[in-house]
Amino acid sequence: MGSTQHSFPKDRLDTEVQYLKGVGPRLANILSKVGIKTVRDVLRHYPRRYEDRSNLPPLSQLRPGEAVTVRGHLLELDTRPSRGGMVLIRALIGDRTGQVALMWFNQPWISKKLAGYSGELLAYGVVKQANWGFEIQSPEIELIDDDSDAEQFARIVPVYPLSEGVPQWVVRRAAEQALAHYLDAVAEVLPANLRRRYGLEELAWCLTQIHRPESDEARIRARRRLVFEEFFAVQLSAQMKRVQAKQEQGISFPISSIGASTPVTGTLFAAGQTALEGGSIWDEVARILPFEPTNAQRRVIGEIWADMESPTPMNRLLQGDVGSGKTAVALCAMLAAVRCGYQAALMAPTEILAEQHYINLHRMLLDAGVEVALLNGKMPARAKKKALAQAASGEAQVVVGTHALIQEHVEFAKLGLAIVDEQHRFGVVQRAALRQKSGLNPDVLFMTATPIPRTLTMAFYGHLDLSVIDELPPGRRPVITHLKLPHQRAEVYQGVRRMIEEGRQAYFVCPMIADSEKMQTQAAIDLHYRLQEQEFKGFRVGLLHGQMKTAEKEEVMARFRSGETHILVSTVVIEVGVDVPNASVMVIEDANRFGLSQLHQLRGRVGRGASQSYCILIADLRSEDARQRLETIRSTSDGFKIAEEDLQLRGPGELIGTRQSGNLDFHVADLVRDAAILEEARQAAAKLLEYDPDLSRPEYQPLRALLREPTTDLAAIAVS
Ligand code: ADP
Ligand code: MG
Repeated sequence: MGSTQHSFPKDRLDTEVQYLKGVGPRLANILSKVGIKTVRDVLRHYPRRYEDRSNLPPLSQLRPGEAVTVRGHLLELDTRPSRGGMVLIRALIGDRTGQVALMWFNQPWISKKLAGYSGELLAYGVVKQANWGFEIQSPEIELIDDDSDAEQFARIVPVYPLSEGVPQWVVRRAAEQALAHYLDAVAEVLPANLRRRYGLEELAWCLTQIHRPESDEARIRARRRLVFEEFFAVQLSAQMKRVQAKQEQGISFPISSIGASTPVTGTLFAAGQTALEGGSIWDEVARILPFEPTNAQRRVIGEIWADMESPTPMNRLLQGDVGSGKTAVALCAMLAAVRCGYQAALMAPTEILAEQHYINLHRMLLDAGVEVALLNGKMPARAKKKALAQAASGEAQVVVGTHALIQEHVEFAKLGLAIVDEQHRFGVVQRAALRQKSGLNPDVLFMTATPIPRTLTMAFYGHLDLSVIDELPPGRRPVITHLKLPHQRAEVYQGVRRMIEEGRQAYFVCPMIADSEKMQTQAAIDLHYRLQEQEFKGFRVGLLHGQMKTAEKEEVMARFRSGETHILVSTVVIEVGVDVPNASVMVIEDANRFGLSQLHQLRGRVGRGASQSYCILIADLRSEDARQRLETIRSTSDGFKIAEEDLQLRGPGELIGTRQSGNLDFHVADLVRDAAILEEARQAAAKLLEYDPDLSRPEYQPLRALLREPTTDLAAIAVS
């Protein structure tokens, strides 16, 4: 045994795949292309799907439409060019009872593989009736005297997720060998009582069944356990982080004593000035807000203040549908921080939104004597310099801005509270960076208007506490949504004109053009031209897109806000946050190019005032799919329902933000299908941690191996 070349690892599962029988260095090299290096990797590389090849009928018994494995001798091989420069390959195989043709289009390597071969082969595919007899199109094949072994082929066969140049049989062989020789090295990680409680099979059995299922039933049971394990690992990691975070020392804001007999003074207050003249913080809120908070707003404000009072740092996610009034909640949190002598920062994903927050906060906090500063990336140098100085000196008690806030040279005098608005628009690292702007371990509040289905919240934000605003301000009338076909535009424009004549304003949103901001801008410019010069000549039409300078954008928004322009043509830059209550029509061009949640957000730009609002989706509805999606939007205004639907249709990327969802790549688990298992895993993790908060008991040691390795991004999650 060449111990100088290779010393055997302590854990046999760490054995390199090249030492598996029939694998060797050449195949090991191929396997490394899909990230398989060790026996453990092979066992944990689960099939993507299965094909039932146990049905191996004689060729005379084939029936069209049936998925079968066939076995026969190669009788003829014929390669010829077909339409459009494609290559058509036809291989005729036969057994004692009959024949069938195998057809491939444009897969020249098949003919290379078959040329000169005269032995038997196996093919798997769907039987079709052709002119002359039966054929199977694009079957998967294996040559019987090939490297592969044939009896493996004719059963329920795993199909692995692979990349280019890695044949299925290589992984199948490695998996077979790993199961045959290393199964006894597979140690159970889930405690027995937990497995019993949740009806989970043993790991070794599950690995066998996932790779080489005896039956569908066994495979499903195996999968259930593996899904549970995957979710459980994430939940354990997240909840442990949460428990640990609660042991950290943060700021305890003395909110309850604001306005009490002993005035609270902080360094940011002028000497002798009391924190609040004439009552508690609620009284000041009542003076500042131009409306009564809803019960839901009151409740979440209370939750946030309680977090702020507690000495551990707040880590809270505030969810509330579009228009539910999250800004007011943010204001209350920031006011409390300021009254306790700290600075607060609010970060928004777009300049337009940061500007809008600035305008509102500045207006509302002016009389309260709170200084608000704005910091945007593309601001004129002088204004920026001033804002930076105000943040650094503490003169600005509230600082609002885009991600310009987290740049290196930005400093705060005494940042106690960091709020991230529309947090799903930021990357994980960006979100965490705002907290790092303070050495005080500040409280952090994340806000999101995207209603996130509970499953996603659990999977992605398990480390955060959750507050939900589940009520809209009173007097809102649901937006009426219409679906219109492109040829009905004239009618739509007429309706918009009537509304404008009644004193309302309208948005027109241009189609989203994937990955091309330039083209999107052009579309907006074109539409603006058409509306201003033709359809709405005589009215004032504004234009807004992402490539405009900050000052230009500000001007355009200011004119729309003041009612000077009647129509605002925009790209999706207005998707988040924009709030102009008098705007009551939203026209969305090419609506089926948007995700459902995105449409919901866009629609949320109207219906913010007291008058009846409309959302008009212009789309080609020829495809049943498109019609169904838009029908969902038309028929419900419940953001959670829409998000659930979106999750089903497009997966978690859109809801969570692709940059974030990439962090949690599940091998088997599926957030849509396996929601119930996720809930079980969450409960199980909570129960276990209640009993042993840092998994220190010996019987839980194997569980530690399950915890997700902190990648850069996950490390950031830990502190975000
Ligand atoms: P979002 O949650 O989408 O960020 P905003 O904070 O922009 O919502 O609020 C939407 C609109 O509702 C704003 O015009 C705001 O002034 C108004 N609003 C918020 N809370 C209330 C309330 N309690 N009563 C009346 N209007 C409210
Ligand atoms: Mg908002």
